[in-house]
This record gives sequence, C-alpha cells and structure tokens, in this order.
Amino acid sequence: MFNRLLTLLFGVALLTVNASAQCPGTADTAKPVSEYDDEDWYYSGTHSTAGFSNAAADWNAVEAKVHIGTGQFEDILISDDDSIAPFLGQQISYAYQPASPCYNFLDECGYCANSSILWYATVQLNQTGIANTAAQWMLSVDVVTEKVMSHEFGHYFRLVEYNGPDNCSFSTIMSSSEPYTCQPQFSGPTYCDVGVFNISYSQINTVPFESCPSCNS
Ligand SMILES: [Zn+2]
Repeated sequence: MFNRLLTLLFGVALLTVNASAQCPGTADTAKPVSEYDDEDWYYSGTHSTAGFSNAAADWNAVEAKVHIGTGQFEDILISDDDSIAPFLGQQISYAYQPASPCYNFLDECGYCANSSILWYATVQLNQTGIANTAAQWMLSVDVVTEKVMSHEFGHYFRLVEYNGPDNCSFSTIMSSSEPYTCQPQFSGPTYCDVGVFNISYSQINTVPFESCPSCNS
C-alpha cells in the first residue's frame, strides 16, 4: 500500500549545509521532518531493546524538538534484517503521499501533510553484524546497538552519512568508525551532530499529537 517510489525522491535534491566551519555534518533537507514533538519506536524483534532506549535518551538529552519515546505509537518501526550486511543498520523515512489518509490536508497545527512531512519511518538492524562488532571491540551488544541506533536516529533527523577520514576533534555519530576509534568512545550524538540537527529542524516548530485532530474528524 505504500508507494516506495516516492521515497527515492528524497535523495534527489540533496541540500547540504555546514553545522560549523569545522564540523563535517550535513543535513538532507529533502527528507521529510516530524511535525510532532513525540515520536515512538516500536520493535518487532526479540533482541534486547536497551540500546534503543539509551540511544533515544542520548538524543533526548541534546535536543528538545522531538522526544523519542516508546509505547504509545508506532512511528519508527524497528526490525531485524541481517540481509543489509555489511551495514549494521539502515533507516528509511516515509513522507505523506497520495495514498496516505491525510494527504494534502492542512491540519490545525498549520502543517500540510505532504511530501515534506514525515508519515513514519523504518529501521532495519543487522543483529549478527552487531554481535560480531561487539565481540571485535569487546563491547556489550547493548552498547553497539546504542551506537547504531543513535546513528539511525541521526538519519531519522535527516543527518547525512559521514564517510570522510576520522577526525576525533570534530567527531560525529554519523561516522561508522569514529564511535569506536575515538577516545573516549561515544555512543550518542556529538557537538557536531547537535549543530546539524539544529539546522535540520530550524524551520520546524513541532507540536503535540494531541493538538492535531485527525484530518477526518
Ligand atoms: Zn548511516
């Protein structure tokens, strides 16, 4: 029922902006943003969820526009999928689209439910790869899961992958290596990541779900 072709459009109009002169991070402002101030993850697998909660707490500690929680809604659907190897995680955002029930409705929060607004998102986790990485670095699976989920939440917030050389003076959770190679190691968003988030959500005033009645009511 979901038109996945539309999601391909997100990568087309990549717009990059510097968080600061020395920080490497960029935001993909073509990806949809959350209009709500509370987004919940939901996990369909059987592995430990401590890393999810810790990664959510890491982000919640550094930004106040979108609280990542769990329990009430299924906004960020997390599942296990070892086929994404060699990647440990993968995140995909889905915007409102013509097939969505509220497409192109202007809600009472003033947002038009269109392709710029997040409908829901998915995260796939390679649990075998996470376990192997934990063994390689002599870390717990929960700690590696926290690093991976903090990275995927970063993508959720439109932060772009960092593929440049390690620079621990301006580190980023969007690097796949720096959270392990930098000393001290880190498992959540860094100063640079917060800077990119602030750019990514600078035009967005998130609102409580309760203040936005259903489009059909
Ligand atoms: Zn990534």
